[in-house]
Amino acid sequence: MNRPNPARPDIQLMSGYTPGEQPDASRPIIKLNTNENPFPPPKAVLEAIVAAATESLRLYPEPSSRPIREAAARAYNLKPEQIIAGNGSDDILTMILRTFVSSGQIVTAPCPTYSLYETLTKIQGGIFQQTPWPDDLSLPIAALLKTKAQVIFIVRPNAPTGHMVALADISELCRKTSGVVVLDEAYVDFADDNGLALLKEHDNLIITRTMSKSLALAGLRVGLGFTTPALANEMHKVRDSYNINRLAQAGAVAALNNLAAFRPGIAAIRSQRLRLSQELGKKGFTVQESQANFVLATVPNNGLTGEEWLNALREKGFLIRFFGSDPSLQDKIRITIGTKDEMDGFLNAVDELL
Ligand code: PMP
Repeated sequence: MNRPNPARPDIQLMSGYTPGEQPDASRPIIKLNTNENPFPPPKAVLEAIVAAATESLRLYPEPSSRPIREAAARAYNLKPEQIIAGNGSDDILTMILRTFVSSGQIVTAPCPTYSLYETLTKIQGGIFQQTPWPDDLSLPIAALLKTKAQVIFIVRPNAPTGHMVALADISELCRKTSGVVVLDEAYVDFADDNGLALLKEHDNLIITRTMSKSLALAGLRVGLGFTTPALANEMHKVRDSYNINRLAQAGAVAALNNLAAFRPGIAAIRSQRLRLSQELGKKGFTVQESQANFVLATVPNNGLTGEEWLNALREKGFLIRFFGSDPSLQDKIRITIGTKDEMDGFLNAVDELL
């Protein structure tokens, strides 16, 4: 039978999220494209996962991830009722859209930003309105408010630029909007400060965190949301019933109980970030000052284009990120900070291509 496409018309029209490439393991390549951590997590995390696999796989996990929420409450000085856990922070973002955005409502963010927000908004039947960053990259409070958005997303440090907006500006936005403000702190452990203290002042703020970056557990898929008990309670209603499996719960608790073990890796990444920024600067790139585990670099204007750099570096064994679909990022490449050896190799490859 010749049936018409049964998918919703708005889903047919959208293109879906494009994740960074995951190369097949048979070819040696250094991944500097999806902001993973170059260092493995501490042994305590692996031991906790193995113990959970040995003892309890036949049982469902705790539905609300209470063990994670209690460990996170201790680690971040919050109450478990203020915390929700997700299958990666992407899952928290999905819950936010499901909970707060009805069909036809507006969602905004200063752009360029994390492109998944737009995808999730469309899946929800909402309208994503881009609010451009001003030239000085400060938070465009008036322009964001003007959209009358139900949800405003701010990444701090921002992706893909790595820059930080002032916390006072986020406070002002929270005070002035009648909607929900989401502060996405996926990369905040690499930065000089964070927005946790703002939770005490605002009842319309949700802070999201991930274990994929500073805690080196991208493969485990665990993210956290911090907010008021009232908003967390609403979000729990839309959560998949057992959204975090037993192995991930065990590993996440061990990571939260061993946060100090991650500090040397974070310090090494911060120091390589400064070095990579300075070295690329000497080679003719313009590098945005970054507080994250990546840098966004504008390529020298007398050589390869952004896309050509992507392809040439891939040939030399380095995978970086180029955002082909965003017109404002055509002359830019994003490089995840790796180990000192990886950065040595990367800078050599750049020299060869210059
Ligand atoms: N927020 C931002 C800004 C990101 O860059 C990412 C990583 N792609 C995420 C959230 C999601 O990370 P995860 O789902 O691994 O927690």
